[in-house]
Amino acid sequence: MSATSVTFPIINETYQQPTGLFINNEFVSAKSGKTFDVNTPIDESLICKVQQADAEDVEIAVQAASKAYKTWRFTPPNERGRYLNKLADLMDEKRDLLAKIESLDNGKALHCAKFDVNLVIEYFRYCAGYCDKIDGRTITTDVEHFTYTRKEPLGVCGAITPWNFPLLMFAWKIGPALATGNTIILKPASATPLSNLFTCTLIKEAGIPAGVVNVVPGSGRGCGNSILQHPKIKKVAFTGSTEVGKTVMKECANSIKKVTLELGGKSPNIVFKDCNVEQTIQNLITGIFFNGGEVCCAGSRIYIEATDEKWYTEFLTKFKETVEKLKIGNPFEEGVFQGAQTTPDQFQTVLDYITAANESSLKLLTGGKRIGNKGYFVEPTIFYDVPQNSKLTQEEIFGPVAVVLPFKSTEELIEKANDSDFGLGSGIHTEDFNKAIWVSERLEAGSVWINTYNDFHPAAPFGGYKESGIGREMG
Ligand code: NAP
Ligand code: MG
Repeated sequence: MSATSVTFPIINETYQQPTGLFINNEFVSAKSGKTFDVNTPIDESLICKVQQADAEDVEIAVQAASKAYKTWRFTPPNERGRYLNKLADLMDEKRDLLAKIESLDNGKALHCAKFDVNLVIEYFRYCAGYCDKIDGRTITTDVEHFTYTRKEPLGVCGAITPWNFPLLMFAWKIGPALATGNTIILKPASATPLSNLFTCTLIKEAGIPAGVVNVVPGSGRGCGNSILQHPKIKKVAFTGSTEVGKTVMKECANSIKKVTLELGGKSPNIVFKDCNVEQTIQNLITGIFFNGGEVCCAGSRIYIEATDEKWYTEFLTKFKETVEKLKIGNPFEEGVFQGAQTTPDQFQTVLDYITAANESSLKLLTGGKRIGNKGYFVEPTIFYDVPQNSKLTQEEIFGPVAVVLPFKSTEELIEKANDSDFGLGSGIHTEDFNKAIWVSERLEAGSVWINTYNDFHPAAPFGGYKESGIGREMG
C-alpha cells in the first residue's frame, strides 16, 4: 500500500504517511475498500484519507495475531526485550518527526508532543527491561509434590485508544503486551491514527515478527465493537470515556475477557496557603492547560485555601496574570504553549460548558472565548468561587477550563475533593510535608502529586478509583 506525502504547516517539511491497516507487518487496504478523512484541528483541513477497518479486517488481524502468538509466546524474554529496545532506538532517531505528526493530527503544542514522545521511548525501554524479570513462586506443599506458579501470557489482546495521547496510549498498550509474550490488535481513535500508523513502519524495521502488532483504524461502533466481541481476543485494554468504558465492560463480559479501563476524571488540585506560590501557579497551569486540558487526570477542580481573604485574592490575581501570558495558537509557531482542541465535537462541548457557566452566572476569572474562526482554539478559562454542586465542578469537560473553589478547613477540603464520581489524579501544594502526606492518604485518587502535577514515570503505576477505571498501567 502506498503512503501519502504530508506537509507540516509553517515549517513546510514533508514526510511520507502510511495510510493502510497494519496487519502482518504490511500496510493493507480495508476489505470493504472504505476510507475515512483525517483532518487537522489546526485549520480543519484534510491531512489524508486512511483505510477504515471493520469486522472483516479485525478477523484477519486476529488470525495474524493468533498465528504469531504461537511463536512469540516462546520467544526468549531477552530477545523480546531486544526488539522493544530496538523500537525505542528507532523512535529516538525519529523523535522530532513523531512529535510533529502528533501535533499536526491532534493539534497539541509541540512541547506537549515532545513530552509524549519522550515518555513513549522511555516506556518502551522500561518494558524491554521488564521482559526477563517476570517470575513466579515455589510453594511449599508437602514432600510428595513440587508446586510452583508461572506467569503466562493470555494470547491475543485488544486495545482501543483515545485521541488525546495517541502515541502514548499506543505505547502503554503495546509495550506491556509484547513484554509479557502477548500479541495485540490496536484500534486508535478515528480522529488521530497517524502517529500510530507511522510507528508501525518502525515496528517492522525493528524486526518485530509479523502479526505480533496489528493496528486497525476504524470506527468505534464498527471496528472497536468487533474487537470487544471477538471470542479469540482474551483481554481488552481501553482508554477513553467512562460512558464507552461501561460498554466495553458489558461487551467483554460475554466472553469473560479481562479488562483494563482508564476512563475519565475530574481531579482536585489543592492549594494550601503555605505553598510556594510561583511554583504552585506553574503546577496549576500544567494541571489544567497542558495538552489543552485534554488529559484524563487534568487538575480541573482547583481548591484554594481561603482562610486569609487577602492572600486568596492575591493568589487568584497572580494566577490570572500568569495564565493570560500563555501563548495559544498553531503548534508549529514558536513559543506556543497551548494548541488546538482535537475534535470538532470536543471543541463544541467545551464551548457549551462555558456557555452553561455564563448562563448560570458563574464568576469568570479569565478566558471564556474561542480564538480565531478557523481551527479549534479556546482561551485558557477559569471560573472562580464555583459551587461544589455545579455542573462545571462535577462533570468532566476535557478542555482548558478550570473551576476554583475556596476552602476553609482541611476536613471540608477532603469532603469536597472526594465528592466526585471519579478518582484518577490529584495534587497537593504545601511546604508542610506532613500535611501533604496526611491529606494524600485521605484522597480517593489513583495518583497524588505533591508540589508537581501531570508528572509521569514509567515505573510509577497509573490508574483510577471509582468511575475512573479498573487496573493500573505502567509500573
Ligand atoms: P470515546 O468515545 O470513549 O472514544 C475512545 C475510543 O473508543 C476511540 O477509539 C473510539 O473510537 C472508541 N469507541 C467509541 N465507541 C465505541 C464502542 N461502542 N465500542 C468500542 N469502541 C468504541 O471518547 P471520545 O469520543 O474520543 O471522547 C469523549 C469523551 O471521553 C471526552 O469528552 C472525554 O471526557 C473522554 N475522554 C477521556 C479520555 C481519557 O484519557 N480518559 C480520552 C479521550 C476522551 P472512535 O474514535 O472511532 O470513535
Ligand atoms: Mg486529526
